[in-house]
Amino acid sequence: MNTRVRFCPSCGASLGSGEIAGRERAYCVSDDCGYVYWNNPTPVVAAIAERDDHLVLVRSHGWPEHWFGLISGFLEAGEAPEDAVLREVTEEVGLAGRLEGFVGAYPFYRMNQLLLVYHVSLPPGMITLEESELAAYREIKIHKVRPWPNGTGPALQAWLRARGYDAEFLSA
Ligand SMILES: [Zn+2]
Repeated sequence: MNTRVRFCPSCGASLGSGEIAGRERAYCVSDDCGYVYWNNPTPVVAAIAERDDHLVLVRSHGWPEHWFGLISGFLEAGEAPEDAVLREVTEEVGLAGRLEGFVGAYPFYRMNQLLLVYHVSLPPGMITLEESELAAYREIKIHKVRPWPNGTGPALQAWLRARGYDAEFLSA
């Protein structure tokens, strides 16, 4: 059960917890409300952004200096994931990407997210970072990219291996 939600977002009563549909879940204690906190995973789109034999990776504010990850973000309501990933690319690096293909859907259990990972190619031109979210970017030669074992890492590993790269996971 997720303990971050303590009050019913529907009526404001306290949430209790108990088994509903086979799992421990939070639910509203008010008899006439019926709210259940299902805690379903949140979809997130991510881009393996490629140009000229390099991947463009980004570092969020607050991450360690050596961490770089895929361009990613949340879907907006009513938005198709293919549009969302291209929007995120434009927002985060200021370039209009082109969708090359769907890499796959990958669970990120710790963050309770479902990652929808796409391969996107980037045009030439200057990268302009979205500075409120991002601290830096890096263009790394594809054969030097090493995925981390969580989150988008398995997607990146699968993509790299499909292209013949060894792509061992970084050790922790
Ligand atoms: Zn309620």
